[in-house]
Amino acid sequence: MPAPLRLRLDGDALVQNWRTLDRLSGTAACGAAVKANGYGLGATEVARRLADAGCRDFFVSNWQEAADLAPLGLTVSVLHGVRDDDMPAAGAGFARPVLNTATQVARWKAAGGGACDVMVDTGMNRLGVSADDIAGGLLQGLEIETLMSHLACADENVPMNAVQRDRFAALAGATSARRLSLANSAGIALNGYAFDLTRPGLALYGGVPRPDLTDAVRPVVTIKAQILQRRRVRAGETVGYNATWTAPADTDVAIVNLGYADGYFRGFSGVGTARAADIPLGVLGRVSMDLVAVALTGATGVVEGDWIAFDFILPDAAAVSGMSQYELLTALGARFARVWA
Ligand SMILES: *Cc1c(COP(=O)(O)O)cnc(C)c1O
Repeated sequence: MPAPLRLRLDGDALVQNWRTLDRLSGTAACGAAVKANGYGLGATEVARRLADAGCRDFFVSNWQEAADLAPLGLTVSVLHGVRDDDMPAAGAGFARPVLNTATQVARWKAAGGGACDVMVDTGMNRLGVSADDIAGGLLQGLEIETLMSHLACADENVPMNAVQRDRFAALAGATSARRLSLANSAGIALNGYAFDLTRPGLALYGGVPRPDLTDAVRPVVTIKAQILQRRRVRAGETVGYNATWTAPADTDVAIVNLGYADGYFRGFSGVGTARAADIPLGVLGRVSMDLVAVALTGATGVVEGDWIAFDFILPDAAAVSGMSQYELLTALGARFARVWA
């Protein structure tokens, strides 16, 4: 059934962003984080395009996500490692775990081992074994493809970045790992953090984690939704839940098929922007679950059934809505028809 709301996904921009991040990674290989369904865009569609462009290393969170990608036959690492419940999937060989804890390491060794990755914590205190664990021999006997760590503050210029980099660099040669990997999207923009493999996610999809990446990253996602009703709101009348917007003068308004159930959050209430053809339009009042109102001031030819494009340049959309760029992408809902162009 033709959906009344669409995500237009720019495949050229996605590939261009990967190529740019690959170039910025210098001699390091550039992988791709495609967890959370490719940050909401569709993991299979994303991974297929990036694999065609030359990307060889893909990262997901769990084995369900890895199984979804299995038909593509790619090299996939599962960032959350292996629980007992995951061992049958892990044994099937369509992905390898990133081991994060001593228990996961023991589980993997007990099952006979095989290629794996390992996460070491260098200060974020999220996932990972410790440098002391490594010094104590925890990883001995493992066949480690990539030893990785994750930066806590790569989107800021703070001393902690260099602290983490130096702790990580000190582990070179301490394990059997063939490669070292530290940088996410933001880390790629730092100098000297690429090691052998980078792991961008956000910037592939048009997110800009640091101002110095603004010119490098192209937007990938455009939101379009269809007008259900065009109405004239008389001066003094209000629009939407809790009547938060009052018409200062007679105002033409479009009621559009889009709401917070689609990931167009209430943070866009009164501040979101859109366009019909090239005419800029503003969101009026509260965003509802499935509907949003926009002013049609100056948009005389726009009628019921027309499509409106909602501005979704991620750093700007994050600033006006109060959400993070990650939240905005990963919450894009299932009701959108995802249309690659
Ligand atoms: C999600 C994730 C990435 C990608 O991070 P971005 O900030 O989206 O570029 C890289 N590495 C790990 C371990 C991750 O969990």
